[in-house]
Amino acid sequence: MHFITPSFPSHGFGLLDLNAIARKTSPAINFQREHLTGNQYAEYLEAVAYYFELPIYTNVEVQNIEPLSQGQGFVVYVPDGILKTQFLIWAAGEFQYPNLTPFPGADLSLHNSQIASWAHLEGDEFIIIGGYESGMDAGSNLVGLGKRVKVLDRTGIWAELDTDPSISLSPYTLQRMDFCYSTGRLELIGNTAIKEVKAVPGGYAVYSEYNKWVSATQPILCTGFESSLKQIAHLFNWSEGYAGLTQEDESTITPGLFVVGPSVRHSNVIFCFIYKFRQRFAVVANAIAQRLGIDPTPLEVYRQEGMFLDDLSCCDDDCLC
Ligand SMILES: Cc1cc2nc3c(=O)[nH]c(=O)nc-3n(C[C@H](O)[C@H](O)[C@H](O)COP(=O)(O)OP(=O)(O)OC[C@H]3O[C@@H](n4cnc5c(N)ncnc54)[C@H](O)[C@@H]3O)c2cc1C
Repeated sequence: MHFITPSFPSHGFGLLDLNAIARKTSPAINFQREHLTGNQYAEYLEAVAYYFELPIYTNVEVQNIEPLSQGQGFVVYVPDGILKTQFLIWAAGEFQYPNLTPFPGADLSLHNSQIASWAHLEGDEFIIIGGYESGMDAGSNLVGLGKRVKVLDRTGIWAELDTDPSISLSPYTLQRMDFCYSTGRLELIGNTAIKEVKAVPGGYAVYSEYNKWVSATQPILCTGFESSLKQIAHLFNWSEGYAGLTQEDESTITPGLFVVGPSVRHSNVIFCFIYKFRQRFAVVANAIAQRLGIDPTPLEVYRQEGMFLDDLSCCDDDCLC
């Protein structure tokens, strides 16, 4: 294991003002950009970790966690040993857990999470299966590289206009699609549930119930991810595919185990986007502070900034985040 703090480098934060980070941990404000590059995000996160002296272990795959009896904490299994903790916050996201088998023959496709660089894909024409954020991200990148793209989607979510981006495309994505349309190289085909992919001479055939599309290049699978909570599924009570959580985002059956991130869901309130689920961080911090007998008053600053969402009644019918 490599423990990066406090031996973390204190240099190389470019234009980032560490004092500004202390006041407002917003990457957009710090970089004065709405959409950062990957490198800018990495730099920002390193600066935050450095400033707050976060004890971060890198290149560590958590293999298992085991609750100790009588709510005494957890043992966390990592390749070269174990860690012990009183509380555990699971924040392992989804991106490293793609659903690679949504239908027969899907393994002949490339899942979008497996593509390190769109520029390295050979070929001029592509079929993308799935038209939500991942599919449109893939489509925008490929059209931007001069490729022709067909996007096949079960519903045609690009036509859904809703204030909640958990159920419709975000404005930024719609804006990118406008450019794609203007090139004439993007074709959107909705109401098309893909049933199977087969290898055929010269390429791949993609089948819905009534239609077939053939592509010389591997179809690109943008049909989604599994929740990383599946790794520790036995520590939750599952209902309709979602892990049961208390109002403090703690497992209903494993005291001390909290969840933050896109897997958090309360009834029809979905926290699958960062700008939504970050409002629950203070809720978890507050719960842990209360149990440790620590004064939670400093968390009130989160409430003042609209980042302490402990009343979900405002989210019932429409997302007001
Ligand atoms: C194409 C696309 C577009 C999106 N656009 C937006 C958007 O515009 N706005 C928005 O708010 N959200 C957007 N999202 C969703 C957003 O990216 C995710 O919800 C967010 O990244 C989740 O953050 P996270 O930190 O919970 O998980 P992740 O970003 O997945 O990070 C999880 C971390 O846990 C680590 N990890 C995983 N498993 C283990 C393990 N076993 N042991 C140790 N470490 C582990 C990983 O290495 C990773 O560092 C988009 C997602 C996609 C795919």
